[in-house]
Amino acid sequence: MPTQISKVGVIGAGQMGCGIAHVCAIAGLDVAINDVSPERAKASLGVIDGNMQRQENKGAISDETRKAALKRISVVDGYKALSDCDLVIEAATEDEQIKRKIYSELCPQLPPQTMVATNTSSISITRLAASTDRPERFIGIHFMNPVPLMQLVELIRGIATEDETFDAAKVLIDKLGKTVAVSEDFPAFMVNRILLPMINEAIYTLYEGVGSVDAIDTAMRLGANHPMGPLQLADFIGLDTCLSVMQVLHDGLADSKYRPCPLLVKYVEAGWLGRKTQRGFYDYRGEHPVPTR
Ligand code: NAD
Repeated sequence: MPTQISKVGVIGAGQMGCGIAHVCAIAGLDVAINDVSPERAKASLGVIDGNMQRQENKGAISDETRKAALKRISVVDGYKALSDCDLVIEAATEDEQIKRKIYSELCPQLPPQTMVATNTSSISITRLAASTDRPERFIGIHFMNPVPLMQLVELIRGIATEDETFDAAKVLIDKLGKTVAVSEDFPAFMVNRILLPMINEAIYTLYEGVGSVDAIDTAMRLGANHPMGPLQLADFIGLDTCLSVMQVLHDGLADSKYRPCPLLVKYVEAGWLGRKTQRGFYDYRGEHPVPTR
């Protein structure tokens, strides 16, 4: 019998952490959410409530469901407060050093049976697991953005992940009403291995002057039937996350076809990270997004 998960801890109250907390609470699980930034942590309940309100307005959930789900979420300070969780999902910034530091402070506070998962988009699960005291109870649970809307979750075992951990994660994802795709532990797994080089190529297409932001996005929406253009999608994902995934592909697979586009690097250096900072390939500060080139 896989471990029953009834309480989930979430580390990182950014777009993914809020989404993960949201779907877990709707599914009836208790959730404790934590962030290194007290402002982010405090703001998370409002963000989640706003997203749930949108679902309610569309008739996807009832008012009672939203209110009950919000009551199941608590914002906590410090990792000791996560010690009664069955599973802690780390959804902090995509930076290996940050994640390692989190595990080194988190694990001593958790009972040995508590499972730890990472929502990393690209970093090796085996390597992250090896930096914890419980590689057998460690797994990659890769949710897609926006979590409440996206059906897929990639599940990635590290070399040491036990079947029991994998089975418990699978039961959890079933409970969330989502579909699992199992990926081997290679850089960026499956979705991002395919998606990010396409986005990077769209940025090269812009960098080389083949088309404008608007032309490239229109081309892929209407010419390839994608629901969103690749530059719009890059802004949505976060340009820092996009760059970091390309760097992991480039370093991990050592193939020049994964070279991050210098224009992507420039946007990240400018702090133009997409929607979350109001500016990326589009400027979101006005009523409508305006292309920045
Ligand atoms: P984000 O920038 O919106 O949020 C990251 C959060 O982590 C921030 O609130 C930050 O304050 C917090 N944080 C940083 N250091 C921390 C620490 N030491 N302890 C606790 N919190 C800390 O980023 P995001 O888009 O939510 O991405 C989070 C993770 O999810 C990354 O690993 C990313 O690769 C992955 N992911 C992102 C997407 C996407 O489309 N954005 C999709 C799937 C997976």
